[in-house]
Amino acid sequence: MSVVGFDLGFQSCYVAVARAGGIETVANEYSDRCTPSFVSYGPRNRSIGAAAKSQVVSNCQNTVQGFKQFHGRAFSDPYVQAAKSNLVYDLAQLPSGSTGIKVMYMEEERVFSIEQVTGMLLTKLKETAESAMKKPVVDCVISVPSYFTDPERRSVMDAAQIAGLNCLRLMNDSTAVTLAYGIYKQDLPAPEEKPRIVLFVDVGHSGYQVSVCAFNKGKLKILATAFDPELGGKNFDNILVNHFCEEFGKKYKLDVKTKPRALVRLYQECEKLKRLMSANSSDLPLNIECFMNDIDVSGKLNRGQFEEMCAGLLAKVEGPLRSVMEQTKLKKEDIYAVEIVGGASRMPAIKERIGKFFGKELSTTLNADEAVARGCALQCAILSPAFKVREFSITDVVPYSISLKWNSAAEEGLSDCEVFPKNHAAPFSKVLTFFRKEPFTLEGYYNNKKELPCPNSAIGQFLVKNVVPQAKKPKVKTKTVELPIENKLHWQLPNDVLNLCVENEGKMIMQDKLEKERNDAKNYVEEYVYEMRDKLHGILEKFVNEADRDTFSLKLEDTETWLYEDGEDQQKQVYIDKLGDLKQMGQPICERYMEANERPKAFEELGRQIQVYMKIVEAYKAKDELYDHLDELEVTRVDKQVKDAMVWMSSKMNQQNNQDLTLDPVVNIGEIHAKIKELYSACNPVLSKPKPKVEPPKEEKTENGPVNGQEGTEEPCNSDKAKPAGTEEGTPEKKQPEMDIE
Ligand code: ATP
Ligand code: MG
Repeated sequence: MSVVGFDLGFQSCYVAVARAGGIETVANEYSDRCTPSFVSYGPRNRSIGAAAKSQVVSNCQNTVQGFKQFHGRAFSDPYVQAAKSNLVYDLAQLPSGSTGIKVMYMEEERVFSIEQVTGMLLTKLKETAESAMKKPVVDCVISVPSYFTDPERRSVMDAAQIAGLNCLRLMNDSTAVTLAYGIYKQDLPAPEEKPRIVLFVDVGHSGYQVSVCAFNKGKLKILATAFDPELGGKNFDNILVNHFCEEFGKKYKLDVKTKPRALVRLYQECEKLKRLMSANSSDLPLNIECFMNDIDVSGKLNRGQFEEMCAGLLAKVEGPLRSVMEQTKLKKEDIYAVEIVGGASRMPAIKERIGKFFGKELSTTLNADEAVARGCALQCAILSPAFKVREFSITDVVPYSISLKWNSAAEEGLSDCEVFPKNHAAPFSKVLTFFRKEPFTLEGYYNNKKELPCPNSAIGQFLVKNVVPQAKKPKVKTKTVELPIENKLHWQLPNDVLNLCVENEGKMIMQDKLEKERNDAKNYVEEYVYEMRDKLHGILEKFVNEADRDTFSLKLEDTETWLYEDGEDQQKQVYIDKLGDLKQMGQPICERYMEANERPKAFEELGRQIQVYMKIVEAYKAKDELYDHLDELEVTRVDKQVKDAMVWMSSKMNQQNNQDLTLDPVVNIGEIHAKIKELYSACNPVLSKPKPKVEPPKEEKTENGPVNGQEGTEEPCNSDKAKPAGTEEGTPEKKQPEMDIE
């Protein structure tokens, strides 16, 4: 079972995993812990994350971003319609009425549902987690903004399913942050004591979320939340973009909004400028070369001017803060700390306003970017039976009041009941009693439309089936029967559609994989061409004759041209064959080079071994008592073998010295190593035979211990020098004493 948390951000995502050592935020294939929430569609594949973001200018109309806010929304939703005019990619209405994204994929126009697009992003995050954990990832916890309604949440759940994930729970961004904060705190008040109240502010790209949390040892309870989905980094970017559109309109007579590519570039530069302005209050430049119609544009801005432009937005910072204080009836002095997270919380004007509201320094205990993902991974660990985590109870709140309505014969018409008021604890089960003789329908909805960030207040219909009249005297006996309930939840994908999406996602993953392999095969050809072209006039030059070199050079050049023309877009096998073809010419040259490089070492090895054995044989002949236990016949045989080897080596060396380097070598390294091995097998058993131990005569024994038989003096000891290179016998299992030669 995997323990993974995904922060599914509007602009960027983070992945945290639980390992034996604790919670860890993991990096993607670019060694970056941040994965941009981008999906790009191409003629042959999709790119997701950083690879997609890099195509945002070159393939702007098919590179989608900022799609998180379309979850659970009708195409006709005013938010969607308003956002549409600022997007460089197209939206379309799906048959269900929900929002789809229209792109060119595999050279066809396709409309993907928002669940599919987020599913694709989750596929990437899942892969990141899998490569970090080196095992399949299925179970996870995913974050959503605390202001998401039920249809928005269900839509994210569907996306998770499309990506093959089993989302154990969706977690509110700010609740994930509170958990990441609280679970490690050792000094929280005891359960019966007054809780520690901490306020959390998350300023992301798409919105502003505030929550107040009460902590006691082993538990946290969210008391209230408030939000402004129109107060995030993107809203500041919009102001900057509009400002420069206007300025460039006047200064250069450019209508930026008519050119998607220019608009995307302006968004990128404005976001950079915004970040720079957080760190610097002086005038900062904004320059874009060849912006539109070959015109270079430039502008400048400073933090003061920027804050003036954003005065309206900044004035909204206080609203949610005031709201949570009113909801909880807390006083400012009740707040122990104000913790800020989220990328846009780095804006000085935002920090200043929050700090001023509470009249205190803000805390930045948590990692502003990774806290949400870490909280989700912690929640997943708590839910996972496979992981042992400190007991910690989490009580969240219902963000909007929820009612049920139903047809009631008794009341002749619709009955209605608020089941969960705003800020009611969640998750929570309530028992409701209905007296019915036949199937009936309940309808769930948010009863306070004004609070909702979207116009749709419906949650879903629940048809309670199989209800039949019961026996007359119900008081005598109560029977409990499970009744099937058919849910018709707003915007939730029907099962058959969902299954089809799962299947299609699998096909697209496969297509991406094949395309990657095809691209890799092409890259190998390209790399080989460049490498060989360099080397043919460098280290390999001596090892190929002029005619072959010219032919090979020409072939490499032709291949390079081919790669940019006919070979630009070929099947994987074509590249494999092309590389094979080139290698047929290149490989023998490379081998000659490699042989020439390695040969001296191999000969040296053999020479050293011959020397070793020759010395022993000489010592034996000179009646050295170290070797007087060796067998004469055997030594003679070995002597001959050593001499033969020497003759073999000198003759091969001579022949090789006279051999042209452009021709195949007279002897290759494999043969030399075989010779070393052969010599070792023949000589070692004979020459390293251990000298039998001589029992010292008892009377000669001195107080200092035995005179003879001391290890390392009488007995020959191991010598690396006598071992053949690259052979297993080089490290004989049974450590028999060998000769100490030198
Ligand atoms: P959301 O939480 O809304 O789904 P997200 O999690 O993707 O979005 P974050 O990564 O928390 O958002 O924040 C991204 C925003 O923070 C962007 O608007 C980015 O420009 C902004 N940002 C990041 N660093 C800075 C900075 N130093 N100064 C100003 N803004 C910054
Ligand atoms: Mg976020």
